[in-house]
Amino acid sequence: MNKWFSRYLFCFLVFFMGCNQNNQPSMEKPPGADYDGQAFTFQEVGDGIYHIKGTGVLSVGCNSTLIVNERDAVLVDSHISPAAMWALFTEMTAITDKPIRYVINTHFHFDHVHGNQMFPEDVKIISHTNTRDMIAAGNSKRGRSYDAFIGRIPDRISELEQQLAAATDDSTKSVFRDRIRLQKNYKEATDAVMPRAPNERFTERLQYKFGDRLIQILFFGRGHTGGDAVVFLPEEKILITGDLLSTGISYLGDAYPEEWVRTLERLKKLDFETILPGHGDPIEDREKIDHFQAYLTDFWKQAVQMRKDGVEADEAAKRIDMTAHASHYPRIKEAGVSIFGVQRVYELMEGTAK
Ligand SMILES: [Zn+2]
Repeated sequence: MNKWFSRYLFCFLVFFMGCNQNNQPSMEKPPGADYDGQAFTFQEVGDGIYHIKGTGVLSVGCNSTLIVNERDAVLVDSHISPAAMWALFTEMTAITDKPIRYVINTHFHFDHVHGNQMFPEDVKIISHTNTRDMIAAGNSKRGRSYDAFIGRIPDRISELEQQLAAATDDSTKSVFRDRIRLQKNYKEATDAVMPRAPNERFTERLQYKFGDRLIQILFFGRGHTGGDAVVFLPEEKILITGDLLSTGISYLGDAYPEEWVRTLERLKKLDFETILPGHGDPIEDREKIDHFQAYLTDFWKQAVQMRKDGVEADEAAKRIDMTAHASHYPRIKEAGVSIFGVQRVYELMEGTAK
């Protein structure tokens, strides 16, 4: 055999041995990826379209959507950590052997983008230009939202350790041991994050055709963050919204509540039947959008008035009364809202919001 040809063949074999069965790149198991059972459930909501949710045995953050096309696959949102993305690569082999060649980040929040680093350089990672800039500036790994959720993990572990020490029966002890293991895994997994910014950006719309599959990536204005992309599948009438919509009340800590209402109004003009939200189950009932618009409008009005009246944000968070919306959001039991949304409204009014 010709020397060059045998070398070529050798490289070729090494390349293939470096790929695992599902044609995803071979990868080391990242830190914090130990778990028992299945980390995800895959719900097929259209031909080759899967709504993917975490089961709770591993912290995965958001939902994702896998769209399997003729030759490859598209993933919407990459979960919270390299460990979560590794788990998805492993478990998706039960669904398809097609490689993910496109990843769409709906917005910059850590629980939607921190699996990005697990993809090879030639995979297109797509987001709105504002989201790309926020990730590139390091905003997915700092600030109020990150500190509140990820920064608090060590405190949560010590609280659980105290509860374990105080537990008397074996079954309670085992519950706390499991929770501590989960949180320690979570900490290890998020410590391994090196934020990776998207390599493809858009401002208003992008469109891809994969065989018969048409995928539109659209921006309707600011809302949950400053760069929320939605993914629309017109043939299947499926809309993937990230956290612009949720089965409950979306997080407001980085939001533009007043603009969000208008963004949702524009989004409602699309012809869809199923919404796949960033958290929770698929939504079939379009009225849920109206309910959330009403919530946002009321919340904005009350928070703005509190600031005009000189009420401190902490106190305003106790006083703002959203119980009028309790029939749509059963978690609302009494007056009071999360401080993060109130702080955000105050910053927007002061011109200090980032
Ligand atoms: Zn979010």
